[in-house]
Amino acid sequence: MNFKYFLFCQGDILLTKEGTIPRGDEPPIELKPWEVVTTLAPSLLPLWGSASRRQGSGNVALPQRGSGEGAVVGLLSSPVTDRPDLQMVPLRKTFHILPPDDYQLAGKCAELVYFHQNNKFCGVCGGQMKWQTEISKQCCECGKELWPSLATAIIVRIQRGDEILMVHAHTFRDRHYGLVSGFVETGETLEECVRREVWEETRLHITNIRYFGSQPWPYPCGLMVGFTADYLSGQLSLQREELSDGGWYSRDRLPYLPDPSSIAYRLIDDWVKQTDKHF
Ligand SMILES: [Zn+2]
Repeated sequence: MNFKYFLFCQGDILLTKEGTIPRGDEPPIELKPWEVVTTLAPSLLPLWGSASRRQGSGNVALPQRGSGEGAVVGLLSSPVTDRPDLQMVPLRKTFHILPPDDYQLAGKCAELVYFHQNNKFCGVCGGQMKWQTEISKQCCECGKELWPSLATAIIVRIQRGDEILMVHAHTFRDRHYGLVSGFVETGETLEECVRREVWEETRLHITNIRYFGSQPWPYPCGLMVGFTADYLSGQLSLQREELSDGGWYSRDRLPYLPDPSSIAYRLIDDWVKQTDKHF
Protein backbone atom coordinates (compact mmCIF):
# COMPACT_ATOMS: atom_id res chain seq x y z
CA MET A 1 0.00 0.00 0.00
CA ASN A 2 1.13 3.53 -0.64
CA PHE A 3 1.60 5.73 2.41
CA LYS A 4 2.22 9.32 3.25
CA TYR A 5 4.89 9.66 5.94
CA PHE A 6 4.19 12.22 8.67
CA LEU A 7 7.49 12.20 10.58
CA PHE A 8 8.11 14.69 13.38
CA CYS A 9 11.08 15.80 15.44
CA GLN A 10 11.14 18.59 18.02
CA GLY A 11 8.05 20.32 16.64
CA ASP A 12 9.21 20.13 13.02
CA ILE A 13 7.83 17.87 10.30
CA LEU A 14 9.83 16.19 7.55
CA LEU A 15 8.99 17.40 4.03
CA THR A 16 10.56 16.86 0.66
CA LYS A 17 12.72 19.69 -0.68
CA GLU A 18 9.77 20.52 -2.96
CA GLY A 19 7.61 21.07 0.14
CA THR A 20 5.39 17.99 -0.01
CA ILE A 21 4.69 15.13 2.41
CA PRO A 22 7.01 12.20 1.53
CA ARG A 23 5.01 9.35 0.00
CA GLY A 24 5.58 5.86 -1.37
CA ASP A 25 5.60 2.24 -0.29
CA GLU A 26 8.91 2.74 1.55
CA PRO A 27 9.69 5.45 4.16
CA PRO A 28 11.91 8.32 2.96
CA ILE A 29 14.46 7.48 5.68
CA GLU A 30 15.19 4.35 7.65
CA LEU A 31 12.70 4.18 10.52
CA LYS A 32 13.56 2.39 13.77
CA PRO A 33 10.62 0.31 15.07
CA TRP A 34 10.24 2.56 18.14
CA GLU A 35 10.07 5.65 15.94
CA VAL A 36 6.77 4.54 14.38
CA VAL A 37 3.98 5.93 16.59
CA THR A 38 0.94 4.63 14.70
CA THR A 39 -0.31 3.88 11.21
CA LEU A 40 -3.61 5.18 9.93
CA ALA A 41 -5.53 3.23 7.33
CA PRO A 42 -7.34 5.35 4.75
CA SER A 43 -10.60 4.59 6.59
CA LEU A 44 -9.27 6.45 9.65
CA LEU A 45 -8.44 9.68 7.89
CA PRO A 46 -10.75 12.70 8.33
CA LEU A 47 -13.73 13.30 6.10
CA TRP A 48 -11.86 16.16 4.59
CA GLY A 49 -12.68 19.21 6.61
CA SER A 50 -11.11 21.60 4.18
CA ALA A 51 -14.72 22.54 3.53
CA SER A 52 -14.34 24.78 6.56
CA ARG A 53 -11.38 26.58 4.98
CA ARG A 54 -13.32 27.06 1.79
CA GLN A 55 -16.40 28.13 3.69
CA GLY A 56 -18.59 30.50 1.78
CA SER A 57 -17.14 29.54 -1.56
CA GLY A 58 -19.75 26.82 -2.14
CA ASN A 59 -16.88 24.66 -3.31
CA VAL A 60 -17.08 21.85 -0.74
CA ALA A 61 -14.96 18.77 -1.40
CA LEU A 62 -16.79 15.45 -1.41
CA PRO A 63 -15.94 13.10 1.48
CA GLN A 64 -13.15 10.71 0.61
CA ARG A 65 -12.92 8.57 3.73
CA GLY A 66 -11.88 5.02 2.96
CA SER A 67 -10.08 5.72 -0.28
CA GLY A 68 -6.56 6.81 -1.11
CA GLU A 69 -3.36 6.47 0.86
CA GLY A 70 -2.80 5.59 4.51
CA ALA A 71 -0.60 7.60 6.82
CA VAL A 72 2.44 6.50 8.81
CA VAL A 73 2.98 8.67 11.91
CA GLY A 74 6.49 8.79 13.34
CA LEU A 75 8.54 10.52 16.01
CA LEU A 76 12.20 10.70 14.96
CA SER A 77 15.01 10.43 17.52
CA SER A 78 16.95 13.17 15.73
CA PRO A 79 16.18 15.68 12.96
CA VAL A 80 17.09 14.84 9.36
CA THR A 81 19.82 17.28 8.35
CA ASP A 82 21.99 15.35 5.91
CA ARG A 83 19.60 14.77 3.01
CA PRO A 84 19.52 17.31 0.16
CA ASP A 85 16.12 15.95 -0.95
CA LEU A 86 14.46 16.42 2.47
CA GLN A 87 13.90 19.28 4.91
CA MET A 88 12.55 19.79 8.44
CA VAL A 89 9.89 22.54 8.67
CA PRO A 90 7.97 23.91 11.71
CA LEU A 91 4.41 22.52 11.55
CA ARG A 92 2.84 26.00 11.68
CA LYS A 93 4.73 27.11 8.58
CA THR A 94 3.38 24.20 6.56
CA PHE A 95 0.00 25.98 6.36
CA HIS A 96 1.62 28.13 3.70
CA ILE A 97 3.33 25.19 1.97
CA LEU A 98 1.06 22.12 2.01
CA PRO A 99 -2.32 21.63 0.31
CA PRO A 100 -5.14 22.20 2.89
CA ASP A 101 -5.95 18.50 3.33
CA ASP A 102 -2.30 17.57 3.93
CA TYR A 103 -1.91 20.45 6.41
CA GLN A 104 -4.96 19.26 8.34
CA LEU A 105 -3.78 15.64 8.30
CA ALA A 106 -0.30 16.71 9.45
CA GLY A 107 -2.02 18.42 12.40
CA LYS A 108 -3.95 15.26 13.25
CA CYS A 109 -0.73 13.23 13.14
CA ALA A 110 1.08 15.80 15.32
CA GLU A 111 -1.74 15.49 17.87
CA LEU A 112 -1.36 11.70 17.90
CA VAL A 113 2.38 12.10 18.50
CA TYR A 114 1.60 14.48 21.40
CA PHE A 115 -0.96 11.98 22.77
CA HIS A 116 1.64 9.21 22.53
CA GLN A 117 4.38 11.21 24.24
CA ASN A 118 2.14 12.32 27.09
CA ASN A 119 0.37 9.03 27.83
CA LYS A 120 3.05 6.41 28.37
CA PHE A 121 1.64 5.36 31.74
CA CYS A 122 -1.88 4.92 33.10
CA GLY A 123 -3.21 7.79 35.23
CA VAL A 124 -5.27 5.33 37.30
CA CYS A 125 -2.80 2.58 38.22
CA GLY A 126 0.55 3.60 36.71
CA GLY A 127 0.63 0.62 34.33
CA GLN A 128 2.01 0.83 30.82
CA MET A 129 -0.25 2.22 28.10
CA LYS A 130 -0.22 0.36 24.77
CA TRP A 131 -1.92 1.27 21.52
CA GLN A 132 -5.33 -0.42 21.44
CA THR A 133 -6.46 0.93 18.09
CA GLU A 134 -4.62 3.22 15.69
CA ILE A 135 -6.03 6.22 17.56
CA SER A 136 -6.46 5.06 21.16
CA LYS A 137 -4.50 3.41 23.99
CA GLN A 138 -5.29 0.95 26.75
CA CYS A 139 -3.59 0.20 30.08
CA CYS A 140 -1.88 -3.22 30.16
CA GLU A 141 -2.71 -3.59 33.88
CA CYS A 142 -6.21 -2.26 34.61
CA GLY A 143 -7.59 -2.02 31.08
CA LYS A 144 -8.40 1.72 31.18
CA GLU A 145 -9.01 3.02 27.66
CA LEU A 146 -7.80 6.43 26.59
CA TRP A 147 -8.41 8.62 23.54
CA PRO A 148 -6.63 11.88 22.73
CA SER A 149 -8.32 14.72 24.60
CA LEU A 150 -8.90 18.11 23.03
CA ALA A 151 -8.42 21.48 24.70
CA THR A 152 -11.53 23.28 23.46
CA ALA A 153 -11.42 27.06 23.25
CA ILE A 154 -13.89 29.67 22.02
CA ILE A 155 -13.02 32.75 20.00
CA VAL A 156 -15.50 35.56 19.33
CA ARG A 157 -15.79 38.52 16.99
CA ILE A 158 -17.78 41.25 18.76
CA GLN A 159 -19.29 43.91 16.55
CA ARG A 160 -20.45 47.40 17.57
CA GLY A 161 -21.77 49.42 14.65
CA ASP A 162 -19.08 49.34 11.99
CA GLU A 163 -16.31 48.40 14.43
CA ILE A 164 -15.08 45.15 15.96
CA LEU A 165 -13.22 44.52 19.20
CA MET A 166 -9.61 43.45 18.74
CA VAL A 167 -7.11 42.67 21.47
CA HIS A 168 -3.44 41.94 21.94
CA ALA A 169 -2.61 39.31 24.56
CA HIS A 170 0.68 39.07 26.44
CA THR A 171 1.06 35.53 25.08
CA PHE A 172 1.00 36.60 21.40
CA ARG A 173 4.38 35.99 19.80
CA ASP A 174 4.23 39.10 17.60
CA ARG A 175 2.45 42.46 17.50
CA HIS A 176 -0.78 41.25 15.87
CA TYR A 177 -4.21 41.91 17.32
CA GLY A 178 -6.68 39.04 17.63
CA LEU A 179 -10.11 38.42 19.11
CA VAL A 180 -11.29 37.59 22.60
CA SER A 181 -10.76 33.88 23.23
CA GLY A 182 -10.40 31.40 26.06
CA PHE A 183 -10.64 27.79 27.11
CA VAL A 184 -13.98 26.14 27.79
CA GLU A 185 -14.34 25.09 31.42
CA THR A 186 -16.00 21.93 32.68
CA GLY A 187 -19.73 22.22 33.10
CA GLU A 188 -20.37 25.16 30.80
CA THR A 189 -21.84 25.40 27.32
CA LEU A 190 -19.88 26.98 24.50
CA GLU A 191 -22.21 29.99 24.56
CA GLU A 192 -21.77 30.41 28.33
CA CYS A 193 -18.03 30.26 27.81
CA VAL A 194 -18.25 33.03 25.18
CA ARG A 195 -20.23 35.24 27.59
CA ARG A 196 -17.88 34.51 30.51
CA GLU A 197 -14.65 35.11 28.59
CA VAL A 198 -15.95 38.40 27.14
CA TRP A 199 -17.03 39.58 30.60
CA GLU A 200 -13.75 38.51 32.26
CA GLU A 201 -11.50 40.05 29.62
CA THR A 202 -13.45 43.21 28.70
CA ARG A 203 -16.31 43.79 31.22
CA LEU A 204 -18.69 44.03 28.24
CA HIS A 205 -22.09 42.39 27.81
CA ILE A 206 -22.87 40.86 24.43
CA THR A 207 -25.91 39.50 22.60
CA ASN A 208 -26.76 37.54 19.41
CA ILE A 209 -24.08 34.89 19.95
CA ARG A 210 -23.93 32.86 16.73
CA TYR A 211 -21.77 29.91 15.67
CA PHE A 212 -19.28 30.75 12.93
CA GLY A 213 -17.12 27.66 12.40
CA SER A 214 -14.40 25.60 14.01
CA GLN A 215 -10.81 24.66 13.43
CA PRO A 216 -8.45 21.98 14.74
CA TRP A 217 -5.48 23.75 16.33
CA PRO A 218 -2.75 21.16 16.80
CA TYR A 219 -0.49 23.36 18.98
CA PRO A 220 -0.56 20.95 20.71
CA CYS A 221 -4.14 19.61 20.95
CA GLY A 222 -6.69 22.39 20.56
CA LEU A 223 -10.07 22.79 18.96
CA MET A 224 -11.03 26.42 18.29
CA VAL A 225 -14.76 27.15 18.09
CA GLY A 226 -15.53 30.49 16.48
CA PHE A 227 -18.53 32.73 17.24
CA THR A 228 -19.82 36.15 16.30
CA ALA A 229 -21.71 38.43 18.68
CA ASP A 230 -23.02 41.98 18.99
CA TYR A 231 -22.08 44.48 21.66
CA LEU A 232 -24.94 45.05 24.12
CA SER A 233 -23.69 47.25 26.97
CA GLY A 234 -20.79 48.14 29.22
CA GLN A 235 -17.63 50.24 29.22
CA LEU A 236 -14.52 48.53 27.81
CA SER A 237 -12.14 47.63 30.64
CA LEU A 238 -9.38 45.21 29.69
CA GLN A 239 -8.17 42.44 31.97
CA ARG A 240 -4.56 43.53 32.25
CA GLU A 241 -3.22 40.15 33.44
CA GLU A 242 -4.01 38.65 30.02
CA LEU A 243 -4.34 41.59 27.61
CA SER A 244 -1.77 44.28 26.93
CA ASP A 245 -3.99 46.32 24.60
CA GLY A 246 -7.31 46.33 22.83
CA GLY A 247 -10.07 48.49 21.42
CA TRP A 248 -12.69 49.01 18.73
CA TYR A 249 -11.38 49.00 15.19
CA SER A 250 -13.07 50.04 11.97
CA ARG A 251 -12.33 48.52 8.59
CA ASP A 252 -10.18 51.46 7.45
CA ARG A 253 -7.83 51.39 10.45
CA LEU A 254 -7.26 47.73 11.28
CA PRO A 255 -4.18 46.82 13.31
CA TYR A 256 -1.64 44.15 12.32
CA LEU A 257 -3.75 41.02 11.63
CA PRO A 258 -3.29 37.43 12.87
CA ASP A 259 -1.70 34.77 10.66
CA PRO A 260 -4.03 33.57 7.86
CA SER A 261 -3.76 30.02 9.27
CA SER A 262 -5.88 31.03 12.28
CA ILE A 263 -9.64 31.12 12.68
CA ALA A 264 -9.15 34.61 14.16
CA TYR A 265 -8.03 35.77 10.71
CA ARG A 266 -10.99 34.04 9.06
CA LEU A 267 -13.43 35.73 11.45
CA ILE A 268 -11.92 39.17 10.79
CA ASP A 269 -11.64 38.58 7.04
CA ASP A 270 -15.29 37.49 6.91
CA TRP A 271 -16.31 40.76 8.58
CA VAL A 272 -14.13 42.88 6.28
CA LYS A 273 -15.75 41.23 3.27
CA GLN A 274 -19.26 41.70 4.69
CA THR A 275 -18.58 45.35 5.28
CA ASP A 276 -17.24 45.62 1.73
CA LYS A 277 -20.67 44.63 0.46
CA HIS A 278 -22.37 47.39 2.45
CA PHE A 279 -20.23 50.21 1.06
ZN1 LIG B 1 -4.19 1.24 34.55
